[in-house]
Amino acid sequence: MRASKYLVPTEKENPSDAVVASHRLMIRAGLVRKSGSGFYFFLPLGLKVLKKIENIVREEMDATGALEFELPIMTPSEFWEQSGRWSVMGPEMMRVKDRHDQWYALGPTHEESFSYLVKPLLKSYKDLPINVYQIHTKFRDEIRPRFGVIRSREFIMKDAYSYHLDETSLDATYQDMRTAYRKIFQRCGLKTIPVQADSGTMGGSASEEFMVVSPIGEETLLLCASCNYSSNSEKTPFIAKAEDSPNGPKDKKEVATPGKKSIEDVSSFLNVRPQDTIKAVAFQNGKEKLVVFLRGDLELNEHKLKSYLKWSDLDLIPEAELKNNNLVPGFIGPSDVKEGFKVILDSSIQKDGAYIVGGGKEDFHIQGYVPSSEIKVEYETADVALAREGDPCPNCAKDLKAEKGIEVGHIFKLGDKYTKSFQIQVLDQQGKAKTLTMGCYGIGVNRTMATVIEQCNDENGIYWPISIAPFEISLVTIAKGEEQEAKALEFYENLKNEGFEVFWDERDLGPGFKFKDSELIGFPIRITVGKKFFESGEVSIYNRKYNKDETFTFTDFDDLNTRVENLRQELYQELLGD
Ligand code: ATP
Ligand code: MG
Repeated sequence: MRASKYLVPTEKENPSDAVVASHRLMIRAGLVRKSGSGFYFFLPLGLKVLKKIENIVREEMDATGALEFELPIMTPSEFWEQSGRWSVMGPEMMRVKDRHDQWYALGPTHEESFSYLVKPLLKSYKDLPINVYQIHTKFRDEIRPRFGVIRSREFIMKDAYSYHLDETSLDATYQDMRTAYRKIFQRCGLKTIPVQADSGTMGGSASEEFMVVSPIGEETLLLCASCNYSSNSEKTPFIAKAEDSPNGPKDKKEVATPGKKSIEDVSSFLNVRPQDTIKAVAFQNGKEKLVVFLRGDLELNEHKLKSYLKWSDLDLIPEAELKNNNLVPGFIGPSDVKEGFKVILDSSIQKDGAYIVGGGKEDFHIQGYVPSSEIKVEYETADVALAREGDPCPNCAKDLKAEKGIEVGHIFKLGDKYTKSFQIQVLDQQGKAKTLTMGCYGIGVNRTMATVIEQCNDENGIYWPISIAPFEISLVTIAKGEEQEAKALEFYENLKNEGFEVFWDERDLGPGFKFKDSELIGFPIRITVGKKFFESGEVSIYNRKYNKDETFTFTDFDDLNTRVENLRQELYQELLGD
């Protein structure tokens, strides 16, 4: 490809709205341009990368026997009504009405569509298992699109859905997907960690997210260096340490705590540790009301709470509303909750320990409160606290370490939620109708692209893993006059004929400018044929990632091609290491 015939709209300045490296560099390298909040135009150089990632995903999916489809982006409301999700999916699902007053959603995910599609196609156990997928546009009206294509409103996802007669078969495909995902991300040059994830209200039995550790990650991962346990903090069980057992005053009495509402204020005023206190958080979901009690030093994990309750939403009860129910904000104790409220006691609370709790009235707390003997209302115990760095690993009890992570993929055992609502049944070996069980598996293609840039950039720009670079090689020639230009063309023709994927920068620009562009765009290999070549035959092969230049005296094209191929191979090999 000749640069002069291509579009290389590189920019010197950082876009003002870009706060992360990948976003800045995708714009500056001329890979994408912004269309609107959460929408991006992909330009030829950017599209090349996207297509290469798609192809890696496709190859690895096909290798597992998965079958590729393409479904409409517009999904009729009937599909969503059949699964019950038309009313459950919030405003993230973009709904549109056609001229016949028929409602549709722009597909944010395709469980319903695929289930509708495969139902009549699956007739007997012989058709199973089956894993169907597409690589296609998804739409989510994200409340806060950010970080460029890392969280956009329109994006490409590979989404796969598998159907099985039984759990064993589902597990086998789930494991195949797990392996395929590792290969996909490795081939894209990304180091991922599969972490246990929240199954949410989907009710599935297992779920793992593929995370790339990065300071800009929106997820918190808790990792154990000792046993390799890894999980999203949304899901991590909280394990209490013995040293956090309550050791406040044991004699039960009311104590005045004027104006002391927060745990911090109460504990320092009473000279106890936050873990010697119990705090209350009140939620509602429609008509249902709930008060959760947990150890004062801990934060509530809303994901664990929602999945325990099987609620899709949690709204804090406003203070005025609490007061109407005789609950005094800042001073609510477990004995104050009246009928009509569900009560949950976080499992971090030791029921026979003595705690400081709210006194049930303004400016008072109770010390020496022992839950097992004092709580008179019905309550449930559940693990709903947020685990943190330094908490014991649920697996081996060593200290957990926290990292930020970007989710690039997600695999999920869904169970029978969709196969039940779509009545997907086949005849098993005994001729009995059986409802299938299902898995789903997603990869964010543009997010993967941006995440690679997050990992592979320096002060000069991007350094692409060779597998997904827009072109593997850039040939920078600086030629003056017909004779030199003819020689430059000869270099280009040779590399092209040799089968190298080469971007020939023959633009009428200075060498400095061309070098800057090639480093910003991030071609892994750069070959320079310029002044030094025409003076003394010197050619350079530059390794972008390691900023390493190999200069040598040109003898013949065979020698050049061997050198280039060796470096190319080395760069591919590097991806397989680790
Ligand atoms: P997140 O928590 O980041 O919103 P999710 O849990 O909603 O992601 P899934 O529904 O599991 O994501 O979708 C599968 C994959 O699609 C994700 O792992 C991610 O790589 C990608 N993805 C999801 N939302 C977006 C988005 N708004 N922009 C780009 N990629 C996305
Ligand atoms: Mg999301």
